[in-house]
Amino acid sequence: MSIEVRNITKHFGKFTALSDVSLQIEDGELVSLLGPSGSGKTTLLRVIAGLESVDPDCSGEILFHGESVAGKKASQRQVGFVFQHYAIFRHMTVFENIAFGLRVRPRKTRPSNAIIDSRVRELLRLIQLEGFGNRYPSQLSGGQRQRVALARALAIEPRVLLLDEPFGALDAKVRQGLRDWLRRLHDELHTTTILVTHDQEEALEVSDRVVVMNQARIEQVASPAELFHEPATEFVMNFLGNVNVFQGRLNAGRALVPGLAVDVSVESEEISGPANVYVRPHEWTIHRQTNVAGSLLASVARFNHAGSIAKVALLTQDSREIKIDLPLERFNELSLRLGELVCLSPTKVRVFPTPDIRPKS
Ligand code: ADP
Ligand code: MG
Repeated sequence: MSIEVRNITKHFGKFTALSDVSLQIEDGELVSLLGPSGSGKTTLLRVIAGLESVDPDCSGEILFHGESVAGKKASQRQVGFVFQHYAIFRHMTVFENIAFGLRVRPRKTRPSNAIIDSRVRELLRLIQLEGFGNRYPSQLSGGQRQRVALARALAIEPRVLLLDEPFGALDAKVRQGLRDWLRRLHDELHTTTILVTHDQEEALEVSDRVVVMNQARIEQVASPAELFHEPATEFVMNFLGNVNVFQGRLNAGRALVPGLAVDVSVESEEISGPANVYVRPHEWTIHRQTNVAGSLLASVARFNHAGSIAKVALLTQDSREIKIDLPLERFNELSLRLGELVCLSPTKVRVFPTPDIRPKS
């Protein structure tokens, strides 16, 4: 089931929750909506589900498999929904929780008990809770409960699965496990899935594509790798991963930061003026020499190698802190000493002109 969102706008009173949002999701894709709290992720999901109406004067539409769902209520759209605090019924066993959506169907479309039974068993296998059917929710861990919530959403064989921060309330280790599990489940079922999350790591790890939202708008839609390596906007650059940012200037295709000058992409060549210059922590070279032309002189302030990479903090002559991530091998090879002077040069920079000089589009 493909989903198309065309020019959707939604206000709550004077507040704009969605501003002319358009998005295309292919059949069988797993797409994440990623953005800070309040950026409109849940609203977009609820509008797709039919749980929230769009503005009365909004001329946009939502299509499932090329067909407008405008006249269809949530119950007719065949979506499976899982929320962060999905209250699975405490008084029902795991089995009955999963069977619920099928049992409440009108008699005409309700499957026989034998079919319900086999479908629930199949779902119990999928969520790796075979043998847990007779337990009550209070006898499950948080992660197991969210898996039951997912099985319950899947029981009705939804055309679309909508997940709103389904792992948000769980601790990091459990989240990681469920994330991997969700991806494997998706690879098995291929149900078109939209996952809302504010956790960039979760979005980058699990999704085919990521939609970055900010202040009721979409900033960028891209594959995880493209998003990380080719952020389209300054917001995306900042939101994904760590950055070192310098207030510098653009001048004839060069980014100038005091003590540093780097060539940047050709597109920026016509632009001159103030700009923010970004370098990710892993995109630096540390030179042992202190006289490398065009590089920044800095002293080693701290380092920490209690992980899969070494994190080094350095101070420039004008007391700016620079954070660098190094492969452990390189870190060991350098054997830096605290206070020692080194030269730093970025291997990649991204430059975003400050708004007043951005070309008018
Ligand atoms: P997100 O899921 O990205 O955190 P939401 O879509 O829930 O963001 O909300 C976007 C904005 O819309 C928030 O600022 C929120 O306060 C506002 N909002 C959401 N639902 C309502 C509502 N029913 N009434 C008024 N404001 C709402
Ligand atoms: Mg939300």
